[in-house]
Amino acid sequence: MLPEPVNCPICSAAGERIRAAPHGYRYTCPRCGIFCISNGALGCQQDIPPSARDDVRRLRSYGHTAQIEVSRDGVRIVPVRG
Ligand SMILES: [Zn+2]
Repeated sequence: MLPEPVNCPICSAAGERIRAAPHGYRYTCPRCGIFCISNGALGCQQDIPPSARDDVRRLRSYGHTAQIEVSRDGVRIVPVRG
C-alpha cells in the first residue's frame, strides 16, 4: 500500500497517510508525527481539539502511537501499541 499525500487532520500540514486496520488511516505529519485516526474521527475533523497535536507528541514520547477516535463522549485520543 503506497502512502497518499494528504493534509493533516489536526494541523493541516502537508503529510501522507496509509490505510490502517481496522477502519482508518495511519498519518505521518511533519509537525505532529505519526498517529492513527478512525474513519469516524475523520468524519468530524472539526471536533478534533488543537491540543490533539500535543497529545500525539506526548504519547509518542512514551513510546505509544496515538489513535484518534470517536467515542460516545466525542473525539478522544488513546494510546495504541506500536
Ligand atoms: Zn499535523
